[in-house]
Amino acid sequence: MPALSLRILVLDADPQRRIEATDILTRMGCREVFVAANCGQALAVVEQVGAIDIALCDMRDEGKDSLRFLQVAGASGLLRSIIITCSLSDEVKAILTQLSNILGVAYLGEINKPFNYDLLAETVISYWEHLHSDSPAVPTDGVFASEDDVRNAIASKQIISYFQPKFNLATGQVLGVEVLARWKHPERGVLSPHFFLPTVRRCGLLNTLLFLQLQQGLSMQQQALNRGYPISISFNLEAAQLTSSGFIERVTQALAAYELPGEKVIFELTENGILEDHVSCVERLKQLSAMGCGISIDDFGSGFSSLHRLCELPFTEIKLDSEFVREMNNGSKSRAIIRGTVALGEALSIPVIVEGIETEEQRQSLVAMGVRLGQGYLCARPMDCQSLLAWLDNHQAPGHPRKTRMNAKQEGVL
Ligand code: C2E
Ligand code: CA
Ligand code: CA
Repeated sequence: MPALSLRILVLDADPQRRIEATDILTRMGCREVFVAANCGQALAVVEQVGAIDIALCDMRDEGKDSLRFLQVAGASGLLRSIIITCSLSDEVKAILTQLSNILGVAYLGEINKPFNYDLLAETVISYWEHLHSDSPAVPTDGVFASEDDVRNAIASKQIISYFQPKFNLATGQVLGVEVLARWKHPERGVLSPHFFLPTVRRCGLLNTLLFLQLQQGLSMQQQALNRGYPISISFNLEAAQLTSSGFIERVTQALAAYELPGEKVIFELTENGILEDHVSCVERLKQLSAMGCGISIDDFGSGFSSLHRLCELPFTEIKLDSEFVREMNNGSKSRAIIRGTVALGEALSIPVIVEGIETEEQRQSLVAMGVRLGQGYLCARPMDCQSLLAWLDNHQAPGHPRKTRMNAKQEGVL
């Protein structure tokens, strides 16, 4: 068994069970296994060794210690996932899943004692594979990147554009891509924007990043077009950038440099901030619109915006927040919101894109609810320029939908 680079914590009041779990995990190849008898000890371990990849938590005796540990370690971003090592009622399980979701801790399921070696191994190894798939890492030392490091990373082109397809849910055809920032760190691998965007924002570097992305993105778009894929490209934009001086002129220059019309360029804005400086935002958005660019309302439904004010913006696309897909099976509210947004899009003749589609079941339910367009790991993860071009060659035919992993799966090919 190869070594598994995972940091695991066994939280159990029973010393015999701690020994049993440690023994199995060590035999599986886990090199860093720690034990704790209660929440205090568990937090001391975290303080000493850093973030925990998987915590095996016993929840008997009301599970106070485990819940407290989940709450404290999860809220500080120092716990990635949990496995519950006792059986739980459906009610407690629902609360636990919800709490884990809120805290961003993955809930890997329930494994009862005495431990079934195979089940535990399968759960731990598949999580390890998940961590080592192409997901970008969020460094777990609890700090954001420093200003110097971020400036150097931008200057040395370590922060680059990744592209994630937006696709037709029925055919799998890719209509466009969204640009997402990634830091290809020479030692730490591909890092998530959650690690460096707060620094980029704080240091006023969002526009520096955006204009780099415009170069990289428009160049990619031109290469895709030359291969026969006339895809659109979307850039994330924050309200403060929009109203910064010279913004429109710089976008005009960037488009002109690639001799591309604005029609296939979309700017994605969240509701945050738009309504604060409403008049200037509307004016700039109208200028972008006049250049032919599309305007998308990102994370739609996650804020509490006034629909009336939003409707004054010249937007051309609605991106429904991924939360509604995640929650689709936990009650009727999310479904009602999805249906309502589809109806709103139809009434305004504006396409609705649903984010965060990960499974075939979600895709089918969304199609049944009238959703036509989506984005999510089911179709493809964000990838760099060369990978995207190769992916398009393998998954799409110029002008026609070819067999995608997704529709091949539907047909039972995969
Ligand atoms: P966003 O604009 O809502 O982007 C979608 C996020 O969802 C991306 O996360 C993407 O990788 C992730 N995602 C896509 N499909 C799935 C899926 O099926 N399941 C799950 N769980 N996640 C999925 P990412 O790249 O970590 O970006 C997070 C946020 O950071 C973005 O949310 C956006 O608000 C911001 N961001 C990322 N890159 C940039 C950038 O270059 N500039 C600016 N201003 N913001 C950016
Ligand atoms: Ca976005
Ligand atoms: Ca979004």
